[in-house]
Amino acid sequence: MRKAVVAIVGRPNVGKSTIFNRLVGERISIVEDIPGVTRDRIYSQAEWLNTKFNLIDTGGIEIGDEPLLIQMRQQAEIAIDEADVIIFIVNAKEGITAADEEVAKLLFKSNKPVVLAVNKIDNPEMRDEIYEYYSLGFGEPFPISGAHGLGLGDLLDEVVGHFPQFEQEEVDEDTIYFSLIGRPNVGKSSLVNALLNEERVIVSDIEGTTRDAVDTHLHRDGQDYVIIDTAGMRKRGKVYESTEKYSVLRALRAIERSDVVLVLIDAETGIREQDKKIAGYAHDAGRGIVIVVNKWDTVETDEKTMKEYEEKIRAHFQFLDYAPVVFLSARTKKRIHTLLPMVQVASENHAKRIPTNVLNDVIMDAIAMNPTPTVKGQRLKVLYATQVAAKPPAFVVFVNDPELMHFSYQRFLENKIRDAFGFVGTPIKIIARRRS
Ligand code: GDP
Ligand code: GDP
Repeated sequence: MRKAVVAIVGRPNVGKSTIFNRLVGERISIVEDIPGVTRDRIYSQAEWLNTKFNLIDTGGIEIGDEPLLIQMRQQAEIAIDEADVIIFIVNAKEGITAADEEVAKLLFKSNKPVVLAVNKIDNPEMRDEIYEYYSLGFGEPFPISGAHGLGLGDLLDEVVGHFPQFEQEEVDEDTIYFSLIGRPNVGKSSLVNALLNEERVIVSDIEGTTRDAVDTHLHRDGQDYVIIDTAGMRKRGKVYESTEKYSVLRALRAIERSDVVLVLIDAETGIREQDKKIAGYAHDAGRGIVIVVNKWDTVETDEKTMKEYEEKIRAHFQFLDYAPVVFLSARTKKRIHTLLPMVQVASENHAKRIPTNVLNDVIMDAIAMNPTPTVKGQRLKVLYATQVAAKPPAFVVFVNDPELMHFSYQRFLENKIRDAFGFVGTPIKIIARRRS
């Protein structure tokens, strides 16, 4: 089911990122630990009383060197476009400013639910200061202190109370949902168009269930596919559309609904830092992944070129060692027929379930070959393993003491599982759990 999206809006220094970090908590992703992939988070999952939602800090979306008022207006527009509920933050230490009033006007016109938070109310004596903020027209202002974590519960109660009732999105289990992500100009729209114009592909455009997303359905060789958010790719021209972080935001929304994500790389310009960042998001989301090297027509090739290029990719994207690489040209359509079959493979593996007895045969063979390690005189004992989830496949390995499961041994087991069941195109998770 779709998760609600909450956007935080407000002038610089009112405390947006402080509050974002409080609400998101300490959810550090695997990819953020990889050197060179620093990430300023502007989009993350949060949770309140068992309700999960997505949170955007619009303040993190820098929009060129525009004057403050224009930047504020654009951030408000992004919030209005993307969010189901908006948290509008003002600063108790500064009172209402002209920029606050400007933002208020835009938010007011949008008809989106807006919850007004007055930040930096660091102690109860200051609570009387909220009354002047009624004049902004959003009803009761919520006094909070991001720095001290005060008032956030009441604020979230109110925010969650405005979440729309999402209808269960109709997901057809036999259909493969995929999206294309990558830097601007890698050829995402060109590739979608090339796929749609391919022979043997039957296409139908229907309105997606998610607001302003148009999903494109296609059918090929007995398999149904849906390409997600092709509308977002076609819709161009808005000022902020070209800013890097905004395109990341769009990509994230598409990744969320995908079984498989195609990570596009431009063969002409080569691999850039931003490619890694984008790929990292897909990996963190636990989706099936196919790496697509587009514009292969611009590369002079001999029999070794592809292999060398793949090695380069492997070195740059070590965390995607499971992702197959496809080389093609959206322009000339060369090798484009290799793509959908690979998407199908990734999707099947992403959804695959391994029977417990078969899994345990593999695990026990692995242990016989490479005995479990001993830590401080204690030997790791593996009792049995079972697959607890698919999409992506997750395995729980029951052991005498999870502390004894060293990273390298876990990696060894993962490799054995991969060797046995061929999980090409999907991440898998292994969780050690205590069972005495
Ligand atoms: P942003 O620009 O809106 O994202 O604001 P930041 O989150 O970066 O905060 C701006 C400044 O206000 C920082 O120095 C914070 O430490 C401070 N700040 C944030 N929340 C509070 C609060 O509740 N009380 C006080 N006194 N300071 C705060
Ligand atoms: P997007 O921003 O990722 O959607 O990229 P576009 O599909 O708009 O493509 C950006 C540019 O790259 C356009 O000028 C395309 O014509 C060009 N392009 C896309 N695919 C290919 C390709 O396979 N080969 C070459 N040579 N150019 C391509």
